[in-house]
Amino acid sequence: MRYVQEFRDPTTAKVLLAEIARVADQIGATPEKPVHIMEICGGHTHAIFRYGLDRLTHPGIEFIHGPGCPVCVLPMARVDECVELAQQPGVIFCTFGDAMRVPGTKKSLMQAKADGCDIRMVYSPLDALELARRNPNREVIFFGLGFETTTPSTALTIQQAAREGLTNFTVFCNHITVPPPIKALLDDPHMVLDGFVGPGHVSMVIGIHPYDFIARDYGKPIVVAGFEPLDLLQSVLMVLIQIRDGRAEVENQYSRIVPEHGNPVSIAAIEDVYEKRPSFAWRGLGEIDESGLQIQAKYAAFDAEAKFGIGYGAEVAREVEEPDGCACSQVMTGRIKPIACPQFGQCCTPEMPLGALMVSSEGACAAYYQYGGGRPLEAAE
Ligand code: SF4
Repeated sequence: MRYVQEFRDPTTAKVLLAEIARVADQIGATPEKPVHIMEICGGHTHAIFRYGLDRLTHPGIEFIHGPGCPVCVLPMARVDECVELAQQPGVIFCTFGDAMRVPGTKKSLMQAKADGCDIRMVYSPLDALELARRNPNREVIFFGLGFETTTPSTALTIQQAAREGLTNFTVFCNHITVPPPIKALLDDPHMVLDGFVGPGHVSMVIGIHPYDFIARDYGKPIVVAGFEPLDLLQSVLMVLIQIRDGRAEVENQYSRIVPEHGNPVSIAAIEDVYEKRPSFAWRGLGEIDESGLQIQAKYAAFDAEAKFGIGYGAEVAREVEEPDGCACSQVMTGRIKPIACPQFGQCCTPEMPLGALMVSSEGACAAYYQYGGGRPLEAAE
């Protein structure tokens, strides 16, 4: 496949792996004293395990799996609110498929659908908008979920709904942003992070400069990376070279896709429709200042929280305990690997997930489960 196969070339991969090993040795990285590199994006976590990069790279490199899977960081209380909205009379609740099985305190959206709620899987917010046009007597609610990658499409859909004057379309906004949780992790005295592989798709929208603080204020290198194995290997090498050379910079390995200053059309749509929430709750990370987006007052008619009196505007407790025995928060913050969770593969599997990290294919636990992460190479084959 053109433009893909060249990024999976085994000969080039061997060259990069040898160079990674050489630089890792120069740094003095060992299994006992590893270099900790966090891949922020869940798509990178998935790719690392899909291609076995965790087992092919130098043993002195430890991948820490970051909070960049929007399904995984969605707190149970927000899932409960989705179910509550879906249970309202006359509502058609629309969601991306990967959010269907995220557990709430009582049920997931999948279970609510089985109980009779009209919940529909869509591939785009525009699908939900079309449902609103076709069902003028129903309330259509779109579950807006995701980082800066999906935030613009929801914004553009709200702008379109406003232009058409639709009165039966709203968005339950759970869009979140990448830089604040990175800052929260860097401020955590228990975290040991030596460098970052930065998210590719998010950066396509926001560019590379929102990460300047990581290099400037914390002295850590970050390399924005693509999703093919050679992209990731080259990015790891670039991080290691910065560490070896005593540099901390924002570099762009994925320049074939990521413009330095992002996508101006998307950024304009985001700025027109949303504003930052004072804080937003993340599963495993708690409340993080200015990490979530809400719909601006001028678009309040399209805000499900305002219309249905639910969520952050409502006087309800949002704190919900994670299920007993669930170690998601420790995995989310890189304190343990998924296989160290006692529920892994026992009470928690992709078919019957206990925690959100097992639900989405971008979740660290799902990636470990699917590709045998954490096991020695021979055992995983
Ligand atoms: S195995 Fe399940 S319960 Fe344990 S950390 Fe992963 S998702 Fe959470």
